[in-house]
Amino acid sequence: MAIKFIDEANIEGKKVIARFDFNVPLSKDANPTITDTTRIDMALKTINFILEKGASKLILMSHLGRPKGQFDEKYSLEPVAAYLSEKLGQDVVLTESCTDSGIKSYLGFNESKVILLQNLRFHPEETSNDHEFAKKLASYADLYVNDAFGTAHRKHASTYEINTFFKGRAFGGFLLQNEIDALNKIVERPTPPFIGIVGGAKVSDKIKIIEKLLVSVDKLLIGGAMAYPFLKAQGHDIGTSLCADEDLKLAKNILALPYKSKIVLPTDHLASEEFGGAPVQVNEKDIPKNLMGLDIGPNTLELYRSHLASAKTVLWNGPMGLFENEVYSKGTFGIAETLSELQNAFTLVGGGDSVAAVNKAKLADKISHVSTGGGASLEYIENGTLPGIKALRFGI
Ligand code: AMP
Repeated sequence: MAIKFIDEANIEGKKVIARFDFNVPLSKDANPTITDTTRIDMALKTINFILEKGASKLILMSHLGRPKGQFDEKYSLEPVAAYLSEKLGQDVVLTESCTDSGIKSYLGFNESKVILLQNLRFHPEETSNDHEFAKKLASYADLYVNDAFGTAHRKHASTYEINTFFKGRAFGGFLLQNEIDALNKIVERPTPPFIGIVGGAKVSDKIKIIEKLLVSVDKLLIGGAMAYPFLKAQGHDIGTSLCADEDLKLAKNILALPYKSKIVLPTDHLASEEFGGAPVQVNEKDIPKNLMGLDIGPNTLELYRSHLASAKTVLWNGPMGLFENEVYSKGTFGIAETLSELQNAFTLVGGGDSVAAVNKAKLADKISHVSTGGGASLEYIENGTLPGIKALRFGI
């Protein structure tokens, strides 16, 4: 049975506890400020909906950074509470911890409608998916909402175990719904031609998604450091390009699969004698001994563009080169631009670095869906669901 989303919930007069991903980047000074509010802004639709539907209390939960299971001022949600309060036009009370006795009093006060629990990861019980901790969180509310797509691949107390206390009263938020709808267009019967683009540095991180995609794509375009183990496995010289032994082995295994003809590899490169050094154009697949490949070359970009021209579904994960360095960013930005120009195609970009590239190129609004969860979107495509999404079904 399908999970229930928040528009099916009867919220009027209820206390609602909701998990979001407010894991925003903070400045590193004494008074940290939020340097990118996107994650909070994306939660506002669900928050406003819950408030407009007449919730008596809204208890917000999130983690921030990776504190080591205890209070650490650096990871306080204080800046998040301040920003939320400004955006919602009402007080947002930040609690001392997720379990302190003051929370019960806040729940009794009429004045404090929106309560933000302090960083969940100040409690080691959060990441260990502790039953008693989840029970404590659940005791604050009548309904549970999960809108934290970016952490839905984790089995944590606030995303997983907590569901056991909300039988028939657990709902997905709008952000989660939006991600699931978009990712299902890739997972379930993608409209052909379906082109996958995979880049980045490590084959081993993406091996499962490559194997999975090879079944459903028409072509899989590989770029970035990811390409070299494949080129080497085909017997090409790759000079001093990145290529871990483990990755070479994995690439050989993939090239032994029946779908190997779907794999498209770079035919030229931008290389250098040293990491990030002066660029040298290499006009063939083989890279001279003293050079390392750092970006796909112009012919490869053209080749990839021609494959993409007729695509109806595109999934992109991982940069085509060392894109943080402008000299080696043309392949990555070229792909971003190509996707933004496709007509009548469903384009999905997932994974931290390719999302960063699309944002940097200011092209995000020309992409059908830019996923908010890097690891989560990959795992969803691999498995067709995530632990935090599955758990919403516990009580149904
Ligand atoms: P991943 O996290 O696997 O998606 O890898 C992203 C990182 O791979 C980025 O920091 C890129 O700069 C890096 N990268 C991509 N292509 C290359 C390359 N040819 N050589 C070295 N690093 C690369």
